[in-house]
Amino acid sequence: MPELPEVETVRRDLQEHLVGRSVEAVTLRRAEVVRGMAATDGPGDQDICRAVEAGLTGLTVLKAERLGKNLIVGLSDGVTLLVNLGMTGQLFVCDACAELDVHAHLIAELSDGMQLVFRDTRRFGHIELARSESIGESFTLRNVGVDAMSAQFTSRRLAEMLAGRTAPVKSALLDQRRVAGLGNIYVCEALFRAGIGPEVRCDELAHEEVTRLHRAIREVLRESIAAEGTTISDYVTGRRVPGSFQKRLRVYGREGEPCLKRGCRGVIQRIVQSNRSTFCCPQCQRRPETNRGEPS
Ligand SMILES: [Zn+2]
Repeated sequence: MPELPEVETVRRDLQEHLVGRSVEAVTLRRAEVVRGMAATDGPGDQDICRAVEAGLTGLTVLKAERLGKNLIVGLSDGVTLLVNLGMTGQLFVCDACAELDVHAHLIAELSDGMQLVFRDTRRFGHIELARSESIGESFTLRNVGVDAMSAQFTSRRLAEMLAGRTAPVKSALLDQRRVAGLGNIYVCEALFRAGIGPEVRCDELAHEEVTRLHRAIREVLRESIAAEGTTISDYVTGRRVPGSFQKRLRVYGREGEPCLKRGCRGVIQRIVQSNRSTFCCPQCQRRPETNRGEPS
């Protein structure tokens, strides 16, 4: 699923190909991909589709921003389009005559003859129209914490987030309310680079380990952004082409293969943690301290 590097790649493409264009016409085919408008006794499907179409038509794109895994497209008239790609979502700019299937839910015709498309096969992603001045209260952004690539996400901030928590470090890093942007792939990769096992408890981490983990997170995200993200299944950039970081993953998806760390003879293992696959090297990633607190 798209994580920070993939969403950042889409953002950069939108910034380049969308800003200054205006939206001439909009077709929304499925109301269920819209959040923030569908109260139980609220508008029906047709009304939601027409409201989103009318809400976007005629506006000009001003900027494309990002918070965690969420895209924030600022438009004229104080309107912001928020997009979360969920598991299989795609947001791209393509030629108006490009072939689109039934999974293309939102199609916006642009003033330069191109179109902006939101496509999502499994539909865990969503779009939301918000007022630009209050996007912090939107369904999409209200529970999103500090962005993993922002200046606010320092090693000290990470230490504060992890302090005193008994949860495994992997689950803490996946919690978007604290640090936003990391998902399964980059958490596995960062923990591997930092030499920390995914089951190690947050409150077990030494100061030096937190520093190493922070450095590893920034490093893997930066490298993946430079490679335009990881395409394992559906992810495409904002220009509808795959990323290339999948060739450089060191643990994710490498179960049974030799560890790539120099001098390590370990074999990459897949374990299941909170119903999700975790990949790690049992040799060079340290394990949790056992019998903690018990008399020896
Ligand atoms: Zn290893």
